[in-house]
Amino acid sequence: MLHKFFLLIFLSSFLSACAPQSPTSGTRPENAPLKNRPRNVILMIGDGMGLTQVTAGMYANGNRLHLEQCTITGLHKSYAANDLITDSAAGATAFACGEKTYNGAIGVDLNGKPLRTILEEAEQHGLATGLVATSTITHATPASFIAHVSQRSEEEDIAEFFVDSGIDLFIGGGKKYFDRRQKDNRDLLQQLQKKGYFVSHYAEKALDQLTFDPSRPLAYLTADGSPLTAEQGRDYLAPASAKALPFLAQRSAKGFFLMIEGSQIDWGGHANNTNYIITEMLDFDRAVGAVLDFAKADGRTLVIITADHEAGGFAINPGSSMDTIVGAFTTDQHTAALIPVFAFGPGAELFSGVYENTAIYHKMRRALGLEK
Ligand code: MG
Ligand code: ZN
Repeated sequence: MLHKFFLLIFLSSFLSACAPQSPTSGTRPENAPLKNRPRNVILMIGDGMGLTQVTAGMYANGNRLHLEQCTITGLHKSYAANDLITDSAAGATAFACGEKTYNGAIGVDLNGKPLRTILEEAEQHGLATGLVATSTITHATPASFIAHVSQRSEEEDIAEFFVDSGIDLFIGGGKKYFDRRQKDNRDLLQQLQKKGYFVSHYAEKALDQLTFDPSRPLAYLTADGSPLTAEQGRDYLAPASAKALPFLAQRSAKGFFLMIEGSQIDWGGHANNTNYIITEMLDFDRAVGAVLDFAKADGRTLVIITADHEAGGFAINPGSSMDTIVGAFTTDQHTAALIPVFAFGPGAELFSGVYENTAIYHKMRRALGLEK
């Protein structure tokens, strides 16, 4: 009797699992409410970090990366609206706004119309927000989360968006686009200060001397233009990330959205320089380690680690060992290879599978409960 009962349950659940669902009946699985929703979402972008860049960093580091702690992996399709090979502007706009656009576009669609970014939406919903990068903070990747300009090269225009954004924290290079502007004489750092920001920079105070006081929003400029390479001694990404997390958590009880970029893995690809790629990859992974430590302790933080695109057509050639990576390159530009996605924490399961880069935006919104 008992056996028959279980058989019945088994059969009925088997049949319902197999039954085709019409699009109009019931809730499609991808729209079902999340059982365990995170409070915080951290998107970590290794610019130009294809699968080979991850592999090279891992073997060069004794066969170990912090990002291996992620429980879910997926792949995304990085192409832009007007080119199979995306640039970082269209790539980041896809993550930030959920739309494929043209190469060079910062937070605007194919017609140049501004798109609301997930950072702006999070801000409107009372979440704390932040951007941390190892390029200028006005560079294409971070810019696409906060600015709306037709061309990525307009970094002075991009800087203006920070003043009225309400962003709680930003850390990166590009001080000159704020306080020594070619197009006007505005001092945007002074304007940020007037808005209540605690503003500091590399020439005034080292990052490790900085108190992250959550009673005020924080802006810290790490360089005048582009920050140094990791090989030259730049080492702020992991400590800045580690300090940003509790700071943002205290800025809003509703949670936070933070984008952290390892910007220069890409530049190693453009330079066809294996050691540049590996040192930047490992610098980024140290930040991943700090973020995953926070997420594990917090239990309500979703971490997504991915790239906008691959750069260099990078390969690990015969003759390589764990100690010596023999890199080879097909180009000094970006390529169109599928891009790995690693996820950890509540909602990570959304990131399994193969999907468009724009799906990352929708998955993050769903995780944050921004989607109705
Ligand atoms: Mg970038
Ligand atoms: Zn690039």
